[in-house]
Amino acid sequence: MRTLVTGGAGFLGSHLIDRLIEQGHDVVCLDNYFTGRKANIAHHLGNPNFELMRHDVTEPFRLEVDHIYNLACPASPPHYQYNAIKTIKTSVMGAINCLGLAKRVKARIFQASTSEVYGDPKIHPQPESYWGHVNPIGIRSCYDEGKRCAETLFMDYHRQNDVDIRIVRIFNTYGPRMNPEDGRVVSNFIVQALKGEDITIYGDGQQTRSFCFVSDLVEGFLRLMESDYTLPMNIGNPGEFTMLELAEEVLKQVGGPSKLSFQPLPSDDPQQRKPDITIAQRELGWEPKVPLAEGLGMTIEHFRKELGIA
Ligand code: NAD
Ligand code: UDP
Repeated sequence: MRTLVTGGAGFLGSHLIDRLIEQGHDVVCLDNYFTGRKANIAHHLGNPNFELMRHDVTEPFRLEVDHIYNLACPASPPHYQYNAIKTIKTSVMGAINCLGLAKRVKARIFQASTSEVYGDPKIHPQPESYWGHVNPIGIRSCYDEGKRCAETLFMDYHRQNDVDIRIVRIFNTYGPRMNPEDGRVVSNFIVQALKGEDITIYGDGQQTRSFCFVSDLVEGFLRLMESDYTLPMNIGNPGEFTMLELAEEVLKQVGGPSKLSFQPLPSDDPQQRKPDITIAQRELGWEPKVPLAEGLGMTIEHFRKELGIA
């Protein structure tokens, strides 16, 4: 089985590649290293079942593969807002290039979509049937609308060209190998606490997110890819926390002198988010296993080592 992973040098992609290699797949990792790092996949270099391709998904490419996982796209708000137009191109042209390839070589293709398709949701928790509440012209739109358009493209290639698709809507996921400079909340809080810096809470910290540990998420990816479910599916951990609760848990585990520092809330920041995972439970027998406190512990250990903080 030859499998292409776009965005494979990133946080999620590198964990997915570990599992695919373990299962005996021949893996091609395609990445332009915008937010990914060679260090994330360096342990596979030299393995004859692993190939690395420096390439941008917005440019067409030709390969012979059986499965495609399309993960290429910056996921952290500061990174996807850095060049908003490039972010939309990555989602939309990246999807078109991957789907064109899937159609030509008759590969099964998996799209990393996001809970951001629900925007600032008015229905809570969010089932897949919810169409969302997304600002089409705000600072998060390049990411949210890019991912929504990619879902549309997947569904249209499926209906029109019979391409064999899988779509996962990923809810906030964290774990080892997040880039310390990533800018998302879990890595920010841990890195700040480890360095004894103030913890930056945006807004009043009462907004919620539901955090999934990376090993649970990747298990969901693999089960979805092996299933015959072709509609979008939520994968995430329904445990819901305010950002203040997250900061308290990180400080409890790390200790140290950090104080809370309240910063302005970025515009369009969703107030609440929690997956309804009924479909994943029914179709895949999947549910998350790692509670937040435990996953944070493993992530803190990773950052301690990476930053060289005893
Ligand atoms: P990440 O930023 O660590 O990884 C993204 C990878 O894509 C990086 O290796 C980056 O270099 C690569 N990339 C970006 N633009 C590219 C381009 N034009 N061509 C080729 N490669 C490119 O982020 P992640 O957390 O690993 O996210 C992976 C995927 O999962 C993304 O599509 C993201 O939107 C989606 N997702 C992640 C989360 C999460 O909580 N981690 C939540 C929802 C959706
Ligand atoms: N956030 C925060 N401090 C930070 C980074 C993020 O309070 O240093 C907040 C952010 O405003 C949002 C939540 O944490 O309400 C999750 O942010 P993240 O960027 O991780 O993901 P997303 O907003 O895309 O879910």
